Amino acid sequence: MSFVDNVINTTKNVAATAGKKTDEAIRTSKLKIKSSQLNSDIKSKYEKLGTLVYEMSRTGEKDTEAFDAMIAEINAANAELADIEKQLDELKGKVACPACGVKTDNDNAFCPKCGAKLPEKPVEEVVEEPVINEDKGE
Ligand SMILES: [Zn+2]
Repeated sequence: MSFVDNVINTTKNVAATAGKKTDEAIRTSKLKIKSSQLNSDIKSKYEKLGTLVYEMSRTGEKDTEAFDAMIAEINAANAELADIEKQLDELKGKVACPACGVKTDNDNAFCPKCGAKLPEKPVEEVVEEPVINEDKGE
Protein backbone atom coordinates (compact mmCIF):
# COMPACT_ATOMS: atom_id res chain seq x y z
CA MET A 1 0.00 0.00 0.00
CA SER A 2 1.42 3.37 -0.95
CA PHE A 3 1.70 6.36 1.34
CA VAL A 4 -1.14 8.11 -0.51
CA ASP A 5 -3.40 5.09 -0.08
CA ASN A 6 -2.58 5.06 3.62
CA VAL A 7 -3.50 8.70 3.99
CA ILE A 8 -6.76 8.16 2.11
CA ASN A 9 -7.60 5.12 4.23
CA THR A 10 -6.84 6.90 7.48
CA THR A 11 -9.01 9.82 6.44
CA LYS A 12 -11.82 7.45 5.53
CA ASN A 13 -11.51 5.68 8.90
CA VAL A 14 -11.65 8.91 10.81
CA ALA A 15 -14.68 10.06 8.86
CA ALA A 16 -16.33 6.68 9.38
CA THR A 17 -15.72 6.76 13.13
CA ALA A 18 -17.37 10.16 13.45
CA GLY A 19 -20.87 8.88 12.74
CA LYS A 20 -20.00 5.48 14.14
CA LYS A 21 -23.10 4.62 16.16
CA THR A 22 -25.50 5.34 13.30
CA ASP A 23 -23.21 3.72 10.78
CA GLU A 24 -22.95 0.60 12.92
CA ALA A 25 -26.71 0.32 13.22
CA ILE A 26 -27.12 0.71 9.46
CA ARG A 27 -24.31 -1.71 8.73
CA THR A 28 -25.73 -4.27 11.16
CA SER A 29 -29.20 -4.20 9.62
CA LYS A 30 -27.77 -4.31 6.08
CA LEU A 31 -25.61 -7.30 7.01
CA LYS A 32 -28.56 -9.03 8.68
CA ILE A 33 -30.68 -8.58 5.55
CA LYS A 34 -27.84 -9.86 3.38
CA SER A 35 -27.34 -12.80 5.72
CA SER A 36 -30.98 -13.91 5.60
CA GLN A 37 -31.03 -13.47 1.79
CA LEU A 38 -27.95 -15.66 1.53
CA ASN A 39 -29.44 -18.25 3.86
CA SER A 40 -32.55 -18.64 1.72
CA ASP A 41 -30.37 -18.54 -1.40
CA ILE A 42 -28.25 -21.38 -0.03
CA LYS A 43 -31.40 -23.32 0.89
CA SER A 44 -32.72 -23.10 -2.66
CA LYS A 45 -29.30 -24.12 -4.00
CA TYR A 46 -29.40 -27.21 -1.77
CA GLU A 47 -32.85 -27.97 -3.16
CA LYS A 48 -31.59 -27.65 -6.73
CA LEU A 49 -28.64 -29.86 -5.87
CA GLY A 50 -30.98 -32.41 -4.33
CA THR A 51 -33.18 -32.40 -7.42
CA LEU A 52 -30.13 -32.76 -9.64
CA VAL A 53 -28.78 -35.70 -7.61
CA TYR A 54 -32.21 -37.33 -7.60
CA GLU A 55 -32.58 -36.91 -11.37
CA MET A 56 -29.10 -38.29 -11.95
CA SER A 57 -29.94 -41.31 -9.85
CA ARG A 58 -33.35 -41.78 -11.46
CA THR A 59 -32.12 -41.52 -15.05
CA GLY A 60 -28.70 -43.06 -14.46
CA GLU A 61 -27.17 -40.14 -16.40
CA LYS A 62 -24.44 -38.33 -14.55
CA ASP A 63 -24.25 -34.61 -15.24
CA THR A 64 -21.01 -33.97 -13.38
CA GLU A 65 -20.64 -30.53 -14.93
CA ALA A 66 -23.96 -29.29 -13.50
CA PHE A 67 -23.16 -31.04 -10.20
CA ASP A 68 -19.73 -29.40 -9.88
CA ALA A 69 -21.19 -26.01 -10.81
CA MET A 70 -23.86 -26.39 -8.08
CA ILE A 71 -21.23 -27.33 -5.48
CA ALA A 72 -19.08 -24.35 -6.49
CA GLU A 73 -22.08 -22.01 -6.18
CA ILE A 74 -22.90 -23.35 -2.72
CA ASN A 75 -19.27 -23.04 -1.62
CA ALA A 76 -19.17 -19.43 -2.80
CA ALA A 77 -22.45 -18.57 -1.06
CA ASN A 78 -21.29 -20.24 2.17
CA ALA A 79 -17.99 -18.34 2.06
CA GLU A 80 -19.88 -15.07 1.56
CA LEU A 81 -22.19 -15.93 4.46
CA ALA A 82 -19.22 -16.75 6.72
CA ASP A 83 -17.71 -13.38 5.85
CA ILE A 84 -20.96 -11.58 6.72
CA GLU A 85 -21.25 -13.48 10.02
CA LYS A 86 -17.69 -12.42 10.82
CA GLN A 87 -18.50 -8.77 10.09
CA LEU A 88 -21.60 -9.00 12.29
CA ASP A 89 -19.49 -10.49 15.09
CA GLU A 90 -17.00 -7.65 14.74
CA LEU A 91 -19.80 -5.08 15.01
CA LYS A 92 -21.01 -6.78 18.20
CA GLY A 93 -17.46 -6.83 19.58
CA LYS A 94 -17.40 -10.61 19.31
CA VAL A 95 -14.92 -12.96 17.75
CA ALA A 96 -15.25 -16.65 16.88
CA CYS A 97 -12.55 -18.91 18.32
CA PRO A 98 -10.51 -20.28 15.41
CA ALA A 99 -10.14 -23.61 17.23
CA CYS A 100 -13.58 -24.44 18.66
CA GLY A 101 -15.81 -21.79 17.05
CA VAL A 102 -17.30 -20.48 20.30
CA LYS A 103 -18.10 -16.77 20.19
CA THR A 104 -16.48 -14.59 22.78
CA ASP A 105 -15.64 -10.93 23.49
CA ASN A 106 -12.89 -9.70 21.19
CA ASP A 107 -11.17 -8.20 24.26
CA ASN A 108 -10.19 -11.70 25.34
CA ALA A 109 -6.71 -12.88 24.41
CA PHE A 110 -7.63 -16.54 24.86
CA CYS A 111 -10.75 -18.61 24.27
CA PRO A 112 -12.66 -19.11 27.58
CA LYS A 113 -13.82 -22.54 26.38
CA CYS A 114 -10.77 -24.24 24.89
CA GLY A 115 -7.96 -21.84 25.77
CA ALA A 116 -6.80 -21.29 22.19
CA LYS A 117 -5.17 -17.96 21.37
CA LEU A 118 -7.70 -15.59 19.83
CA PRO A 119 -6.92 -13.27 16.92
CA GLU A 120 -5.81 -9.76 17.85
CA LYS A 121 -8.61 -7.26 18.31
CA PRO A 122 -8.85 -5.08 15.20
CA VAL A 123 -7.30 -1.71 15.95
CA GLU A 124 -9.85 1.06 15.94
CA GLU A 125 -9.13 4.63 15.04
CA VAL A 126 -9.43 6.81 18.10
CA VAL A 127 -11.20 10.03 17.33
CA GLU A 128 -10.88 12.69 19.92
CA GLU A 129 -13.98 14.65 20.71
CA PRO A 130 -13.59 18.24 19.59
CA VAL A 131 -12.76 20.38 22.61
CA ILE A 132 -15.21 23.19 22.99
CA ASN A 133 -13.62 26.15 24.67
CA GLU A 134 -16.29 27.44 26.96
CA ASP A 135 -16.03 31.07 27.77
CA LYS A 136 -16.54 31.16 31.51
CA GLY A 137 -16.35 34.91 31.57
CA GLU A 138 -13.38 35.01 33.90
ZN1 LIG B 1 -12.05 -22.12 21.60
